[in-house]
Amino acid sequence: MSFTTLGLNEALLKAIKETGYTAPTPIQAKAIPTVIESKDVLAAAQTGTGKTAGFTLPILQRLSQTQPHMKPKQIRVLVLTPTRELAAQVEESIKTYGKYLPHSSTVIFGGVGINPQLAALRKGVEIVVATPGRLLDIAGQKGIDFSALETLVLDEADRMLDMGFIHDIKKLMKMMPKQKQTLLFSATFSKEIKQLASSLLHNPVLIEVARENTTATQISQVVHPVDKSRKRALLTQLIKEKQWSQVLVFTRTKHGANRLTKQLSEAGIGAAAIHGDKSQGARTKALAAFKSNTIQVLVATDIAARGIDIDQLPHVVNYELPNVPEDYVHRIGRTGRAGQSGEAVSLVCIDEHKLLADIERFTKSKIEKVQIEGYTPDPSIKAEPIQKKQQNRNRSRGASPRNGNRNSRSRA
Ligand code: AMP
Repeated sequence: MSFTTLGLNEALLKAIKETGYTAPTPIQAKAIPTVIESKDVLAAAQTGTGKTAGFTLPILQRLSQTQPHMKPKQIRVLVLTPTRELAAQVEESIKTYGKYLPHSSTVIFGGVGINPQLAALRKGVEIVVATPGRLLDIAGQKGIDFSALETLVLDEADRMLDMGFIHDIKKLMKMMPKQKQTLLFSATFSKEIKQLASSLLHNPVLIEVARENTTATQISQVVHPVDKSRKRALLTQLIKEKQWSQVLVFTRTKHGANRLTKQLSEAGIGAAAIHGDKSQGARTKALAAFKSNTIQVLVATDIAARGIDIDQLPHVVNYELPNVPEDYVHRIGRTGRAGQSGEAVSLVCIDEHKLLADIERFTKSKIEKVQIEGYTPDPSIKAEPIQKKQQNRNRSRGASPRNGNRNSRSRA
């Protein structure tokens, strides 16, 4: 299969060639012709599958086929994403693939000044990539006009619902024309996602790549049993001994991310934290330092890490296992991307044995356990009970955690 048979024009094919992609990924092969045909799409796809190009390429193709007269503040395409980082990355992809086309794009998210965003819309822009909260602010000030909207994309819709964006999305939807193309991408299909999909999509084409609940096979996974109090020492040793140059480490809470970052820095390992309490500037700076190898370790919470696209990330460490098994799959999906191999290491203490069993059930695979010498868990330490009820409540509400509750899910 090659990109040339999918209905894309020369300008797009040239830009694709320059990125070095030789063949479309399965989701691209299915989504590109379907989106070009103006159909609605419901796609089950995680990050790492090439889904961003799967919708940006055909959208650019469609835009290039007509040149309507646009009034200021009108837009033609809106992509909604859960996080600022993902919004920035999607827009970067649009710029990359649209390099030889004249279509303009901008990104809109909170945490930075609103005036340049309003000015860009007044000046006229065809594609907007946005997080729902700031876009709603702008819409409330009549800073954007959806009347000419042709295509709406909901990217990582499950995460947007988890993060409590459903009301913002519904308010925005009411401002949009009924007649438009809608594409919904989600890694998981909860009842809420199905409801949202049925209210938004008209006769959607269903696209599913990689079976649900399975992890990519090119990622090697290992569990190192260790006491909670010795995790930091073990992580430091692994990074130093194995000379890991670029490692993404997951913690459950923002506080935990800050503390670990400080401890790693004190041990001489360059590290930065990325989570919801960090300003946009600090997040962008940390990500840039990590990408350019200025720092070795990026410590992240689940939601902050969602959508971070770092090519060929070799190592992911679960410093603490996530409460929700799907998050494990998302976390390790950060490594071994687009055919590259990767390693996912989990440091698991006795309190987390139940979480590990949940993950193994969810992914339908047993993860190999390797005991590192000198870190054998102390048998006299007993597990603290997992408060499963609290966890489930948080999950279904997409709630933010209570500080100090180690079993709660961190909204980052
Ligand atoms: P995504 O799932 O959109 O986050 O993309 C995951 C990664 O795959 C990104 O780093 C893309 O640059 C890369 N990618 C997308 N399409 C292709 C392709 N056809 N061939 C190789 N890599 C790709």
